[in-house]
Amino acid sequence: MDTSYTVLARKYRSQDFQSLIGQDVLVKTLTTAINTGRIAHAYIFTGIRGTGKTSTARILAKALNCLSSDGPTATPCGTCENCRAIAAGQHIDVLEIDAASHTGVDNMREILDAAQYRPTNGRYKVYIIDEVHMLSSSAFNALLKTLEEPPAHVIFILATTEIRKVPVTILSRCQRFDLVRVPVETLKKHFAWIAEQENVELSDAANELLARAADGSVRDGLSLLDQAIAQTGGHVDESAVMDMLKRADRGVVVDFMQTILSGNVATALAKADEIYTNGADLTMLLTDMMEWTHWATRMHPVLRAGNIGNIPYTADQRERINEINKHVSLNTLSRIWQVMVASVSEMAAASNQKQCFDMLVVRLMHIADMPALAEMINQTKKTVEQKSVTTPKKETITIKTASDLADALQSAREMMMYAYFTKNIEVSEILANRISYFDRGNDSEFQKKLCAWLNTKTGANWELNKIEESHQNQTVREQTQSDAESDPMVADAMSLFADAEIVGVSKQ
Ligand SMILES: [Zn+2]
Repeated sequence: MDTSYTVLARKYRSQDFQSLIGQDVLVKTLTTAINTGRIAHAYIFTGIRGTGKTSTARILAKALNCLSSDGPTATPCGTCENCRAIAAGQHIDVLEIDAASHTGVDNMREILDAAQYRPTNGRYKVYIIDEVHMLSSSAFNALLKTLEEPPAHVIFILATTEIRKVPVTILSRCQRFDLVRVPVETLKKHFAWIAEQENVELSDAANELLARAADGSVRDGLSLLDQAIAQTGGHVDESAVMDMLKRADRGVVVDFMQTILSGNVATALAKADEIYTNGADLTMLLTDMMEWTHWATRMHPVLRAGNIGNIPYTADQRERINEINKHVSLNTLSRIWQVMVASVSEMAAASNQKQCFDMLVVRLMHIADMPALAEMINQTKKTVEQKSVTTPKKETITIKTASDLADALQSAREMMMYAYFTKNIEVSEILANRISYFDRGNDSEFQKKLCAWLNTKTGANWELNKIEESHQNQTVREQTQSDAESDPMVADAMSLFADAEIVGVSKQ
């Protein structure tokens, strides 16, 4: 019995260009170049891990050295001596170098010195340098020297996950190929095929979860599948994968977000407890909640942004998100997003994640509950207006405070006086038709105008006493501003934006 287990990623490693997963553009360009005899001296493959950079490099090495044709071929046979040795990583003329462990210049020189000798068994000497960005700068210089005047029989294939760390001088001498993240649908197809080969049951929902968790990497996806097969004994279903990924069901996340946005703190915290007890990883839960927020924003009726065909939710879940979106503004969603983003690092640093998460839930509910600043001020304005509508104007106008006077001026549309009054006048005292105040401005007519207006408006005789020295009272504008700042809801809104300040409180 065979006791050794070959991991799926290795067992199903692509052996020719046709079986490379999800890299159609690269395959087309490379095969055309080989078929037309345009072979470059250096290639660089870049892309996230697990997209097939080293697989492609090996296939290219086979294409260059396959014995089934007289020259390089886009369809290496896979069975000749050269093809087999290269696939096994044992060909004498194909050197695979891991830059991470050969960063030094001496190492690099030694390797490159051998480049001048002709290949032993192949047509070309092929240097595959993986994670090339790890080389030291002196090692890069040594490489550059060889790249500048490469012997005709030498081909370099560089691979990197971090192309920005590769010097431009190197890049300019290479033909560059970008390996893309493999789309979810392509991964699913591939995983389903492998499951069939392996006689493993893989439900469609489980496959979907794996493909999404792989985040574009064939290798990551396959090692998750390996793990799932080992844990389930070959019956991979959704709950097993969810359990393995420590993720809450998407339905649970939709449900949870709905509770948060409905504003019942006790229920939301109880739900958080339940999800946690069921074994969900809170960091993953936050990621899922961010995913929800992202999609709810894209689906929002105000926005309807771009293609939402790739949406990860079922029809029923989408229906519920649409329902929630009817009561949630875009503004709220974007504030929720900001708080969640900030919480990612908070959660990572917290010694007790659950506490951190509970506090996040409370904060989110506060935001959901809180009307946007603009809406709030509009609301205040409306109540002020309603007051003045229900108050018959002339007879019962009562002015006991500076803001009563400001409101009266505003509802009478005396905007010039209103502006001057709220900005410049520090009211010290208002007592039975007598106002003492300090005037910061220099409109000598103001007193006369205000007095005349008050007399007409109220039918009483007003006495306005302008004092010479300020008693350091606030103007109405200053009062309104500090009232707004001390309002807990406004303070909370402000705390979300590091450099926010109240630039004015509109009473218009
Ligand atoms: Zn061959």
